[in-house]
Amino acid sequence: MARRITVLPYDPAWVRSFEDIKARLLTALGSLCTSIEHVGSTAVPGLSAKPIIDIDVVIPDRSALGEVISTLGQLGYRHEGDLGIPGREAFAYDSRVPLPEHHLYVCAEDSEELGRHLAFRDYLRTHPAAVSGYSRIKTEAAGLYPEDIDGYIRHKAPFIENIYKEVIQMNDCLFCRIIKGEIPSDKVYEDELCYAFKDIAPTAPTHILVIPKKHISKLDEITPENSAVIAHIYEVIAKLAKELDLKDGFRVVTNCGESAGQSVFHIHFHLLAGRPFGWPAG
Ligand code: AMP
Repeated sequence: MARRITVLPYDPAWVRSFEDIKARLLTALGSLCTSIEHVGSTAVPGLSAKPIIDIDVVIPDRSALGEVISTLGQLGYRHEGDLGIPGREAFAYDSRVPLPEHHLYVCAEDSEELGRHLAFRDYLRTHPAAVSGYSRIKTEAAGLYPEDIDGYIRHKAPFIENIYKEVIQMNDCLFCRIIKGEIPSDKVYEDELCYAFKDIAPTAPTHILVIPKKHISKLDEITPENSAVIAHIYEVIAKLAKELDLKDGFRVVTNCGESAGQSVFHIHFHLLAGRPFGWPAG
């Protein structure tokens, strides 16, 4: 009979399970590995998950694999090859492994698959709305396909693909890179939801850009799920206007789409002040 798919609410004990498994692996592997990463859904606080810990053992390069396979063999792990996913070596284990259920993989530092696992985990760790959405989809999938793992995976696949799309956009996006500190900016304000900095080519004596930390490309992508940050941004603008003493008035502009003058596709609010503004807007 097929194994029943169980999705449970987040349990902080999963982190302790990971730490126990990690400690045992580290004692045996020592400097053969560069790090041991908790990946997959149990690594994301707040996320519902199948209670199986996913672990990536990171090695400097594939030349260390032979020694790692034999060391893990002594701990009760059996090498299964890449199971069709290049860059990720899978290991099964026998009853000698006295630990909570887990999946163990070995990846080289430059493995694309490792990069995907870490990017997915780190995205979810910093996007609470995605965590609730993903929890909902997984619970729904387990309800619809309680004994059909392929159906379960198919049901949640579009959500995962969207997250990967967003991760790729964020890596390419100028303003996401400014938020991450990869590109310098003249910061005027920051909180957990938004970031404000001086425009590099100001068109008024005061020209500040206020942006959400979560990547939203443009105004027509605002939905009931992501609109709260926009209200927050307007609160921040009101606060900045007070602090900067803009009592002679100011203008807030958001261009949506290329034909309206949008050149950076991460939604932003231009806060402009210090000169007269004509109407209708140019
Ligand atoms: P928009 O044309 O409405 O998309 O506005 C994009 C704004 O981003 C322009 O006013 C640019 O001057 C500004 N900008 C582009 N690159 C940077 C940067 N590295 N730092 C600060 N502002 C920038």
